[in-house]
Amino acid sequence: QHVHEVNCYISGGPSAENFSDLSREKREQAKSAIKSAVREEKELKFNRLAVKDNIAVQGLPTTCASRILRGHEIPFTATVVKQWETYNAAIVRGKTNMDEFGMGSHSTASAYGPVSNVHPLEGRSPGGSSGGSAAAVRIRDSKDALGTDTGGSIRIPAAYTCTYGFKPSYGMLSRWGVVPYANSLDTVGIIARQLERITKMIQNLYHKHDPNDPTSLPNSVRERGIGLQSHPKNGRLDGFTFGVPIEYNIEELDSRIRTGWTQALEKIQELGGRVVPISLPSTKHALSAYYIIAPAEAASNLSKYDGIRYGKRDDGTASDAVDGVLYANTRGAGFGAEVKRRILLGSYTLSSEAMNNHFIQAQKVRQLVRRDFDRVFVLSNPLKDEEVFDLSDMDGSVVLENKLGPSQVDFVVCPTAPTPPPSLEDVAKQTPLDAYMNDVFTVPASLAGLPALSMPMDIPRVPALGTADMGFGGLQLIGQFWDDARLLAVAGHLA
Ligand code: GLN
Repeated sequence: QHVHEVNCYISGGPSAENFSDLSREKREQAKSAIKSAVREEKELKFNRLAVKDNIAVQGLPTTCASRILRGHEIPFTATVVKQWETYNAAIVRGKTNMDEFGMGSHSTASAYGPVSNVHPLEGRSPGGSSGGSAAAVRIRDSKDALGTDTGGSIRIPAAYTCTYGFKPSYGMLSRWGVVPYANSLDTVGIIARQLERITKMIQNLYHKHDPNDPTSLPNSVRERGIGLQSHPKNGRLDGFTFGVPIEYNIEELDSRIRTGWTQALEKIQELGGRVVPISLPSTKHALSAYYIIAPAEAASNLSKYDGIRYGKRDDGTASDAVDGVLYANTRGAGFGAEVKRRILLGSYTLSSEAMNNHFIQAQKVRQLVRRDFDRVFVLSNPLKDEEVFDLSDMDGSVVLENKLGPSQVDFVVCPTAPTPPPSLEDVAKQTPLDAYMNDVFTVPASLAGLPALSMPMDIPRVPALGTADMGFGGLQLIGQFWDDARLLAVAGHLA
């Protein structure tokens, strides 16, 4: 019988192999190791934190799950990790496995081998690219995990592991010490089993500008957001309007996920929320735009891994080595297939003959995606408006001058991923295009820089699947830029 390895840690962590073999005996060992870790944590009052391997922790390697960075140490600790240590009494448990440089949706494209989902979903995708972080949290080995989300890499793993995954507004959490994939989209995000843990940290970090990170939002703009107060405490959703984007009801949507989504909307209404259909017409082009912009930025970012500036130099002895061509040998041996594909794609779309037809068009689509969201949210985008927006205005009747249409909703509600977690065998058979399709619901919020949460969503069980059927998917809530705190508060009523 095939034994799937969870394989969630790359370095640090509980002697990683304890957690990687799901044979019965090993599982018992792993369980007792976790139990003693939990006991220690309680006694010493700290919280174990799993950190994705593209975020720097001094003293541990930061490899982005790539051969080209094997053994590479960044000599300082990322701001976010330090913040977790300060505000959350966190102790780094280990660095977690991921898709190489964050490129993927199933954590299978890693130089350290794929991550598997955990019992009873072993052998299924844990989502990606922060799949190691999600598995570590799900298996209860870490209380919380840090990951990154460029186009869904926090939210999809959360959806597949029945955890909470939050991608904050672009520019909220510091990226200093985080290895870039696509700078204009990269965010640091959080995975946890309890939503309150995420909410608490966002409240702590809402106002924390990091001067070391040029994309960290300045304080003047942070203050333009609607702030932390301002949400009902009675557990009801009266006065909130939720938009259901009609374009998201795609053909590829698994019928169980569609049912779960419908049930979630019913629950919102039972709690007093209003549910209205909305249109986000540019959504259908968002995925293509994302897969032009992200690889273009990646190709540019990854050019520094040449064996001279960064990256493990290749000795040129591989069978396909080209005599004396250092760059080619280093990059050929150091990068995996998906990363190479992205570099080729990105270099092509940035080339002079393709630039106008691809890269420039994709940037235009990105603007349209942003406009779609700005049009449907009641709140205006603080990056655009001069005026300070105050929640006391929010009785539903306020339409700001510079809106492009009537404002309607507080939050957008849709699934996180179109299907429940697929088996790793099915993932292996996917074409790259099939794999990219998995991100249809997550990339729009990334292109627009908006906060988005994936929370567990009940879906109908399939008796034939037996215990491997956990009966959950991910429900995604998307909010206006910098409306993070309110989004998390409202999600708390839905949880
Ligand atoms: N699956 C997407 C990609 O491969 C998103 C990954 C991410 O958010 N890091 O680009």
